[in-house]
Amino acid sequence: MDLNFTPEEQAFRAEIRQWVAANLPKKISHKVHNALRLTKDDLQAWAKILGKQGWHGWAWPRQFGGPGWNAVQRHLFEEECALAGAPRVVPFGPVMVAPVIMAFGSREQQERHLPGIMSGEVWWSQGYSEPGAGSDLASVKTRAERRGDTYIVNGQKTWTTLGQYGDWIFCLVRTDSSVKPQAGISFLLIDMKSPGVTVRPIIMLDGEHEVNEVFFDNVEVPAENLVGEENKGWTYAKYLLAHERTNIADVNRAKRELERLKRIAHAEGVYEDGRFRDQIAQLEVDLVALEMMVLRVLSAEKSGKQSLDVAGLLKIRGSEIQQRYTELMMLAAGPFSTPFIQEAMEAGWQGDYVGAAHAAPLASHYFNYRKTTIYGGSNEVQRNIVAQTVLG
Ligand SMILES: Cc1cc2nc3c(=O)[nH]c(=O)nc-3n(C[C@H](O)[C@H](O)[C@H](O)COP(=O)(O)OP(=O)(O)OC[C@H]3O[C@@H](n4cnc5c(N)ncnc54)[C@H](O)[C@@H]3O)c2cc1C
Repeated sequence: MDLNFTPEEQAFRAEIRQWVAANLPKKISHKVHNALRLTKDDLQAWAKILGKQGWHGWAWPRQFGGPGWNAVQRHLFEEECALAGAPRVVPFGPVMVAPVIMAFGSREQQERHLPGIMSGEVWWSQGYSEPGAGSDLASVKTRAERRGDTYIVNGQKTWTTLGQYGDWIFCLVRTDSSVKPQAGISFLLIDMKSPGVTVRPIIMLDGEHEVNEVFFDNVEVPAENLVGEENKGWTYAKYLLAHERTNIADVNRAKRELERLKRIAHAEGVYEDGRFRDQIAQLEVDLVALEMMVLRVLSAEKSGKQSLDVAGLLKIRGSEIQQRYTELMMLAAGPFSTPFIQEAMEAGWQGDYVGAAHAAPLASHYFNYRKTTIYGGSNEVQRNIVAQTVLG
């Protein structure tokens, strides 16, 4: 197995690097490099810049308007964007629902929805989890009853990330309660502006409004918004989750954050402390090991093998690493990182604060990242899946 990049791949990387340097607004990369708050406008501005270039759906095949890149090219693109300080693309449209629509949607659905996702104009949300259905996702209770050409939807979704901005939401809904749970679920696309949809904020540990509850009260959804076949939604849901977990590993962002950790450790004078440097070195070793695993997946894909079986492993290790760098950053800044100043997340904040500018947002960042071992399927549940599928 050759894990090195070929000269053509290196040239591709250089081309992407140049393009990102020329097109990523400095105001946005400054926020990303310093873990400051990104607004909807920031996220959408970058999405639209990518969209104009035909890269918001960077993993899409040519047939659907994507660049048709192979797995290595996609990886290099993601790495160059992350290292340059581009915001993480909001994945619900281009990374999650689009592949499902391509694989299982009708031609009308493809023509209607894919262009808006690619251009970054239409914001999608993910409506999987419910108060009683997270790890046990198959027990979703939100009902969709067919009446003629319409589904009437009633129920509640929760933890809907950035759903306050959503134009559309893809939902798992129950269309048959008389069969085993997995066999009675359908995959429905719902316009969030429909009468009867209510979005209510959930404020997280860090004080941010990142997630929501979404209520459906007799919402009328045209039957043409059903993806694939009725009651086959569980198959489509699993297809989507494999994409979500690979994306969550986010090795490239971790590489950028490792450099930030080193900068903070130098500035705080703890980089010279051998015991602290050991912890950074251990993190770096684990990160390189995770990167090797990603490169092995890429190498397998290059030789025509699909190896998404390790998605759970990537999610577990990637999320643990993300939490560790936020912990080490706080340790590096010591007492200067402990006041939790939410306003410090705002770019240009000039509050009354004794520590260095890099220390003020660290507590918010740390709190926010407690989510990474929960979302996208909790790490405990991922371990169960790995035990069954990889270890046998
Ligand atoms: C910040 C954030 C954003 C999210 N965004 C979205 C979103 O946009 N859309 C969406 O649909 N969902 C979203 N989620 C929901 C997420 O997918 C669920 O939180 C996750 O699947 C866990 O489900 P739960 O919260 O119901 O916890 P539960 O399933 O109730 O689990 C509670 C605890 O029990 C453990 N546990 C449960 N079952 C087992 C088992 N069999 N073996 C061992 N341990 C077990 C879990 O690991 C966890 O520690 C988000 C969650 C968070 C925190």
